[in-house]
Amino acid sequence: SYSLIANPVYEKESVIGAVVVILDITEHEKRDMLRREFTANVSHELKTPLTSISGFAELMKAGDVLENDVTDFSKSIYDEAQRLITLVNDIIKISELDGQSIPYEKETVDLYELSKEVIGRLEKEADKKNITFHLIGGRAEIIGVHKILEEMLYNLCDNAIKYNKENGTVDVLVNQTGDGVNVIVRDTGIGIPISHQDRVFERFYRVDKSHSKKVGGTGLGLAIVKHGALYHHAKLSLESTVDVGTVVTIAFSKK
Ligand code: ADP
Repeated sequence: SYSLIANPVYEKESVIGAVVVILDITEHEKRDMLRREFTANVSHELKTPLTSISGFAELMKAGDVLENDVTDFSKSIYDEAQRLITLVNDIIKISELDGQSIPYEKETVDLYELSKEVIGRLEKEADKKNITFHLIGGRAEIIGVHKILEEMLYNLCDNAIKYNKENGTVDVLVNQTGDGVNVIVRDTGIGIPISHQDRVFERFYRVDKSHSKKVGGTGLGLAIVKHGALYHHAKLSLESTVDVGTVVTIAFSKK
């Protein structure tokens, strides 16, 4: 949308011309709207676990909990608090990336080595569902921010486990291309319906809220991947088939 400001120019008493200013406020307005939406979502997302914590604690305080249930109640409070911590950490990460207020240090990063580390960190989670990781490729260096790249790979591999089936597989392919490096994370999971594919990179967007909550999602993982890709001028794409699996590609260019 545009904002139009028009002022007549007078000489003595007659109009001899006009000054017309056309402002493109689309970008500005869009950013403003997204920010407002984000604040509303954050408040809602924080309120849900806090309400549970407060509710459980209130019952315990009043002594209304049977002795047998105390452990369950404490566990619920602990789980919700952990959820809050993960959520707040993700909110901090995305705000840092979005505001670009922090000058990140760039360095040479071998995405093959980094993928290996990330897969190592997720071994326990993968074992719980008997999921096998295959890392395919070799040394593939780019100039980038280690911390952000690690976060991006972690979120993709974590999703590839969370939304996979028992005994599934996750392939991570790291390849040098003509002008950069491609990283592909491919899973044999539940897939994403076509109608949701465009939206999963939005903040707090989830295909199935209850499933995401069960597997510990904050709804910010892919938004962090998207912002990280933007920061590195990388091209991000997703292909997915329901019940077959999902493939996410990040194409880093050296140029
Ligand atoms: P979450 O924390 O909920 O996992 P993400 O931003 O990482 O949030 O992902 C957004 C949504 O996209 C998820 O809730 C899930 O519905 C869907 N999704 C993400 N990755 C996958 C995948 N590999 N397979 C199937 N669905 C996925």
